[in-house]
This record gives sequence, structure tokens and C-alpha cells, in this order.
Amino acid sequence: VFKVTAVPVVKGEQFDGTVLVINDITRLRNLERTRRDFVSSVSHELRTPLASIKGYTETLLEGAVNDPEHATAFLRIIQQESEQLTALINDVLDLSRIESGKIIYNFEPVDVKPALEKTMALFEPAASRKGVRIELNVPDGLPPVLADRNYFDIVMRNLIDNAVKYVDANRGRVRVSACKADQNVAIEVSDNGIGIPQADLKRIFERFYRVDKARSRELAGTGLGLSIVKHILLAHKGNVEVRSKTNSGSTFTVTFPIAGKEAASST
Ligand code: ADP
Repeated sequence: VFKVTAVPVVKGEQFDGTVLVINDITRLRNLERTRRDFVSSVSHELRTPLASIKGYTETLLEGAVNDPEHATAFLRIIQQESEQLTALINDVLDLSRIESGKIIYNFEPVDVKPALEKTMALFEPAASRKGVRIELNVPDGLPPVLADRNYFDIVMRNLIDNAVKYVDANRGRVRVSACKADQNVAIEVSDNGIGIPQADLKRIFERFYRVDKARSRELAGTGLGLSIVKHILLAHKGNVEVRSKTNSGSTFTVTFPIAGKEAASST
């Protein structure tokens, strides 16, 4: 897409012709379109839980409030939908901050093992309630990675949260492991869950993309988690990859660069 502007050239008092200025505004147009799509997706995603909250509130006010059994069920739905709205707003804010490139990352050497132990401990209660086994397998002596500790945690929380979410209750297993790979440390989050169909694999890092809308909604997802993960890894000069097979499980591998001497001595 080109924008053409005609600029008259004046020499002294005299008109001396016209200069055509041609600008390639393709990138700008694309950027505008992405932004418009984002706003419309967010509005749509906000509207769904809001419509449900409104519907159940009206039903309660019209009399269901006097029927304790239904009233409790409806209130529980209203509560879940409110939590979904909160999660969505938080993820949208996180993603737009991360994407804007305005975040100042506090890169420092991060010891992978204790960081992962802390994150795994957060998931222990939810996993055990669901009957899901979670295991951590990190060798001692792994070199530290260069990362912003908070964003390293966000990446790992997102991946482990998905793994626990997309495995079956009582037979699910989630394994987190790490090893050195060239100048990086590779961390693997692997599960034996529902898996991701081949055709969807390329798209799961897109904003709001979910393999199975109905199922993902039931599981209270925002569809933004992997998008956030991808952008954080870009900023860290790391990488994220996925291997998966429907009904047999998924493995997400993220790499973070090993903290070099300079980084280690500057902190
Ligand atoms: P969500 O909030 O829906 O989990 P994400 O961006 O984290 O959003 O993931 C996008 C989609 O990728 C999910 O809706 C799900 O369909 C799929 N997905 C992500 N992780 C896994 C996994 N470990 N097993 C199966 N499907 C997954």
C-alpha cells in the first residue's frame, strides 16, 4: 500500500514544479489492522462472560433467588464468570505491556532448579485435587540462565498450568525437566493429556487461539497464555517449541540463554 503526496516546489517567488512523495505504508496499515482485530477480539471475549452474568442475575431477580438449590448454582456460575473476566483483563494487560516493548527487564542470572521448585509447589495442591502427578527432574550443577526472574516464572506458570489443565483427572502426569543445550538451558514441560491436533499446532501461539473453544472455555482459559510466553521468550532471546499428538500428550520446550560472565559480574 502506497501513499502518494504531491508537494509543490517554489523557487524564489516562482512555482517550479511538483515533487511526488511516495511512502510505503503497508506496515502501518497492517499494524492498524492487528490493533483493530485485537480490540474486537477482546470486546467479544469480555462480552461472553458478561452476558452470562447478566442472564443469571436477571433470572435470580425474577424469582430464582427464592429457590435455594438453583440460586446457589447460579451464583456459582456468576462467580466463575467473574473470575474468567478478571483473568482475561489481567492477561490482556500483561500481553499489551509485554508487546509494547516498554517493559524494562531486569536480567540477572537465575538458578533454574530452585525457581522451578518454587513454581511446582504452587501447583501441588491443584494437581493433587485433580489426581494429577507432577514431577520435577533437574540435574544439579545446571548453569544459571540470563532472565528476568518474574517473567521466567510467568513462562513456567503458564506452561505448567496448561499441562495440568489439559490432562485427564486421576491419570494425568506432568513432568518438568531441564538440561544444558549449547549456549542455552532447555526446559521441558511434558504431559500425557489430550494433545493438540497437527493442524492447530502452528496457531496456538496466536492471541485468543484455542483448539476447542467449548472445552477450553469449560476449563477457564483466556487463549492468551501462550502468546504471552512467546513474547517473553522473544525478549529473552530464547525460544519455545511444541511437539504433540492427539490423545497422547504434549511437550513444550523453552530455551533461555545461559548467563555469561559479564551478566554474572554485573549483579
Ligand atoms: P488457554 O488459556 O486457552 O489455555 P493458551 O494460550 O495458554 O490459552 O493455549 C492456547 C490453546 O493451546 C489452548 O486453548 C489449548 O487448546 C492448547 N494447549 C495449550 N497447552 C496445551 C497442553 N499442554 N495440552 C493440550 N492443549 C494445549
